[in-house]
Amino acid sequence: MTNNELMQEDLNYIFHPCSQMKDHETLPLIPIKKGYGAYIEDFEGNAYLDGISSWWVNLFGHCNAYINEKIAEQLQELEHVIFAGFTHKPAIDLAKRLVSLTPEPLQKLFFADNGSSAIEISLKMAFQYFKNKGETRPLFVSLENSYHGETMGALAVSDTGLYKEVYEEILIKTLHAKSPALHDEKEALEHMREVLQKNSGKICAVVVEPLVQCAGSMKMYDASYLKALRTLCDEFGVFLIADEIAVGFGRTGTMFAIEQAGICPDFLCLSKGITGGYMPLSVVLFTQDIYDAFYCDYHEGKSFLDSHSYTGNTIACAVANAVLDIFEYKNIIKTNQEKINFIKEETQKFKSLDNVLEVRQRGMICAIELQGYAPKERIGLKIFQEALKQGVYIRPLGHVIYFMPPYIFTQEQLKKMIETTYAIVKSL
Ligand SMILES: *Cc1c(COP(=O)(O)O)cnc(C)c1O
Repeated sequence: MTNNELMQEDLNYIFHPCSQMKDHETLPLIPIKKGYGAYIEDFEGNAYLDGISSWWVNLFGHCNAYINEKIAEQLQELEHVIFAGFTHKPAIDLAKRLVSLTPEPLQKLFFADNGSSAIEISLKMAFQYFKNKGETRPLFVSLENSYHGETMGALAVSDTGLYKEVYEEILIKTLHAKSPALHDEKEALEHMREVLQKNSGKICAVVVEPLVQCAGSMKMYDASYLKALRTLCDEFGVFLIADEIAVGFGRTGTMFAIEQAGICPDFLCLSKGITGGYMPLSVVLFTQDIYDAFYCDYHEGKSFLDSHSYTGNTIACAVANAVLDIFEYKNIIKTNQEKINFIKEETQKFKSLDNVLEVRQRGMICAIELQGYAPKERIGLKIFQEALKQGVYIRPLGHVIYFMPPYIFTQEQLKKMIETTYAIVKSL
């Protein structure tokens, strides 16, 4: 079948995520037939460099031979089993490895199957922790310009304008503090202090995306803010939830972004890269103290009874273990450094263009913010379409172009992605 025939078939039935379906009257949907390494290929043989890791999830390329092999092995044994009352080896191995990779106080973890669910779990646990101790604290604090997912709780702690406004009346109440990515760090911290002070005794947790507000136009801030925020949370006796769903697993240059601040959150949410883009899986890591707050006789009513049908899916856990294997045997954090430096050098030239406001980078995330375009011009969409014609897949956030490639990109592939984009931006 041709791309077009498949697109028509699709449009007969499917409502796609994060899409205005009417756009597809003029904007083709692209049916993908196969993936290999850095490329995805459509039904007419056009190959595209996947410059955004298929929505930030793919770390080691499409159809990675080692991961494929590990899945095939797992499939001979067990595909999935109920995770209440039962357990399995891949989950145990993965839990042990994640606990040892993260800061020492994070001793226990809870599995879920997508990023938003991990956020819901951390919010529910934070709230119930205090409830179990006889306190009701109905509020959460998050940062302005934040994104934590699409389910009702995750949406409530997000600050995503259009995506959230529609549901405002039915969302739990949250407070937003100034973002250090949009304001001076000192100003942001003072505002956070003010919010915590004013609502003292009513807040159970502060939730943040460490170092990069990815969905929020790849806005970045310094580790020093996280360090100060940790101190503030301790001072006011509220939990700190680190949402590393996007930035975890090497994205910012270290395995986890919190390492750069030298802090430990009370909850750490992970997903996306955890399975290298293969399977939906998420985890929430937390402290022994939090675990203990739910440990009691069943009739005491302090249990944490959250569950999802696919909690701790066996294949997903096996894949996550394969991903951690690759981090180890290929020493990815170290070898990525060369790619990070290469991206930095190659993107400098954007700075001399009049329509570029800023080039910013944290590890394997590089953003180029354009200026001088009205939102209704949909400049990002134009750039996406032009790049695609030239075999490069990027997906700008409005007027902010970004690169978030899988870690298997070669220098040549990085160069092709950057050069293609540069030529387009220059010609605008
Ligand atoms: C993607 C994302 C989420 C939500 O994860 P889903 O798997 O899409 O539900 C939450 N927080 C951050 C920072 C994200 O980037």
